[in-house]
Amino acid sequence: MKYINEEKINYLLADAAKLDGCQLDIILDKAKSLKRLTLKESAALLSVKDPEDIQKIFAAASFVKDTIYGRRVVLFVPLYISNLCVNSCLYCAFKSDNPLIKRKALTVDEINAQTEWLLNRGHKRILMVCGEEAPSGKSNIDYYTEAIKAIYAAEVGKNKIKRVNVNCAPLSINEFKKLKQSGIGTYQIFQETYHEQTYRRMHPKGPKSDPDNRIDAVDRAFTAGIDDIGIGALYGLFDWRFETLGLLSHIEHMEEKFGVGPHTISVPRIEPAEGAELSLRPPYKISDDEFKKVVAILRLSISYAGIIMTTRENALMRDTLLSLGVSQISAESNTSPGGYSAGDKEQACLPDQQAGSQFSLGDQRSLDEIVGTLIAHDYIPSFCAACYRMERTGETFMQLAKPGTIKGKCSVNALITLQEYLDDFASAKVKQAGYKMIERYFNKLDNVDQDMLKLFFSHVDSGVRDEYV
Ligand code: SAM
Ligand code: SF4
Repeated sequence: MKYINEEKINYLLADAAKLDGCQLDIILDKAKSLKRLTLKESAALLSVKDPEDIQKIFAAASFVKDTIYGRRVVLFVPLYISNLCVNSCLYCAFKSDNPLIKRKALTVDEINAQTEWLLNRGHKRILMVCGEEAPSGKSNIDYYTEAIKAIYAAEVGKNKIKRVNVNCAPLSINEFKKLKQSGIGTYQIFQETYHEQTYRRMHPKGPKSDPDNRIDAVDRAFTAGIDDIGIGALYGLFDWRFETLGLLSHIEHMEEKFGVGPHTISVPRIEPAEGAELSLRPPYKISDDEFKKVVAILRLSISYAGIIMTTRENALMRDTLLSLGVSQISAESNTSPGGYSAGDKEQACLPDQQAGSQFSLGDQRSLDEIVGTLIAHDYIPSFCAACYRMERTGETFMQLAKPGTIKGKCSVNALITLQEYLDDFASAKVKQAGYKMIERYFNKLDNVDQDMLKLFFSHVDSGVRDEYV
């Protein structure tokens, strides 16, 4: 596979002899000073087995996360617009040869209605997701751009979606240019596995069967001017240590060629998917403890990138991973196109296992419950999309994120958007805890102009929405 040197990864993993405590401390000190770790250093961390040493890795990862991002956690929700797909990924319910799911591609009106439902719940950031096949008569890119327009057009009171990120199949440079023009935030694409032989086995048919075309999509997106890119590996297809070094090798390639690494990293684990046998027994299932290590080591190796955790994981695991480096989480997701009940504010999502969903979910909590839990654990829930709208993307974002300078802005924006959420959508219990949190942070944030923040809060009180720094 292009850009991935399997021999080197195998060598590094085999060579990552047991560290002595002193070497481990040197690597962790380097990571804590926010310096990029080498592949060799990351391989060494991946080989750590001693429980005490693992706790040291976890503590260092928490430190790095707090230094870069502070206590804020960004919330988003996926919007599945279609489950039509020409590919046959062995692990996914949307694969073309799966007769068990009901196929659906949402119309523009349906996308608008789904977005309104999400706005009514308090969501502000959407990840648009779909299979690789447009409804008949349309090209993929035209379908995507129409859908993005419909999402941004939806409005409920003063609330609109602030940022649409997109997870869709690879496009050509010209198509990526159109995607950028439609106003997307991050373009997300997961390589699934960085092990070429496994990749070919898992993707037997369709355009996705070419691993080089997929990995090159990131380069094409950059070339087209999209500089916030999210990458990821689907854990469970091959050895987790190999995949983590594969991800890190891919990042080295991005940094070398474009001077910018990924805006976000995702580490989905395979979940059971209807009609996709392999998803029930992933060939390289990764345990919870190994998974925690992966998140912590990614946080230490690439301090500047956001790490995303979706509702594939259960509530307990997601709460734990927040302290190890996760900075963005999804909430009350449904992986079926049309799965959110349009128009009915109180009605919960349609059952997750309904025909048409991509995989089953581990965390079924409502947005309000998730916001409440974040507050209880002293994390500031954030609905901010300021960086992208202030053009703090790509290299500009990295320059703020690498030394941790972004933290001040993140915390202020998180508090403003939290107050908006509390005023407009929260339950009485969450409101009470949230206002207390705002008061607490107002008094303790370093280097923040309190008068300015007070002014923002008074604006929110008087009904102004969507201010940010
Ligand atoms: N179809 C496009 C693609 O494959 O790139 C984009 C959307 S696809 C629905 C998004 C991601 O879902 C895939 O990249 C894959 O990592 C993940 N996925 C697929 N099946 C899954 C499963 N059974 N459990 C967890 N994640 C899964
Ligand atoms: Fe299609 Fe994406 Fe699912 Fe593969 S992972 S079958 S490409 S939707």
